[in-house]
Amino acid sequence: MLKKIYEEIKKYNTIVIARHIGVDPDALGSQFALKEAININFPEKKVYAVGSKSSRYNYFPKLDKYENKNNEDVLLIVVDTPDKKRVDISNIELFPNICKIDHHPLIDVMGEYEYVDTLSSSASELVNRLFKENKMIINEEIAKYLFYGIVSDTNRFLFNTSIETYNIIEELIKKYNLNTESLYRNLYARPFSEVRFQGFISENLKLTENGFAYVIISNEVLQKYGVDASSAGNMVNNYNNIDEVIAWAMISEDVKNNQFKFNIRSRGPIINTLAEKYNGGGHAMASGARVKTMDEVNMLIHDIDNLCKSYLKKEGSENEDR
Ligand code: AMP
Repeated sequence: MLKKIYEEIKKYNTIVIARHIGVDPDALGSQFALKEAININFPEKKVYAVGSKSSRYNYFPKLDKYENKNNEDVLLIVVDTPDKKRVDISNIELFPNICKIDHHPLIDVMGEYEYVDTLSSSASELVNRLFKENKMIINEEIAKYLFYGIVSDTNRFLFNTSIETYNIIEELIKKYNLNTESLYRNLYARPFSEVRFQGFISENLKLTENGFAYVIISNEVLQKYGVDASSAGNMVNNYNNIDEVIAWAMISEDVKNNQFKFNIRSRGPIINTLAEKYNGGGHAMASGARVKTMDEVNMLIHDIDNLCKSYLKKEGSENEDR
């Protein structure tokens, strides 16, 4: 399939690359790595990396403006996004030619050529596979984008990290002489307000008897700490490997979009199928959801807790059988 996607890239002179809303370093890393690589390998083509910007990730280049009108001769490549509704582009239906490269469980088929590998660490790892399989030339800039994507989506090699993941990183660092300290600094620098806010979260996490920890963060609290509705999402991974906790969620009031945002993580129960029922989705152990009312917030809390309960029960009976 990666050869077919490469053939598609060769065929079109205008290529648009899109990724998911609520952008993160893997979405941007895979998007810009692909854009740069097409630029280097096919200098005659016009390539646009589109989507809304985020000042948090200003170590990536600026996004492009693309006027979406007649796309008969245009190839759209979607990276790191399983569902049409979360692709950060206006009117995806206007694109007749779409390829996808993703590591999330499949939700929508978007085009004829799709490469999905849910076992890989990140979309950046898959984009690197596309480069390798088609002998595409890359450079130091691209190596940095891939590094950002892989390191952040694995949370510094804690999750979904295979030998291939380590090998890619080793090769990128060696070949392009990457200054990993400065790259890590870009990825993990944060304002002091977030450190204080993390204190609030740690103090206020509630823990159920089934090992589900959660905190509801009102708009008032966000304002008090001078952070926004996406801030809790930046620290949800810090609460892994707590003895008593098998699943955890940050629930932030998002007044601007009139909703509550769930960032959910697990180290046991599968959470994405539940998240899908609440206008969300994601990976088996890392998902998000969006709900409108406090009633729905409480329902989702209850449902995650029940997942934990069933998981513990199953674990318990399996241990008895051993
Ligand atoms: P986050 O907690 O924002 O880091 O998201 C964890 C995972 O869930 C990522 O793979 C996201 O793409 C996915 N995700 C987050 N929010 C949603 C949503 N509302 N719908 C579908 N997938 C989501």
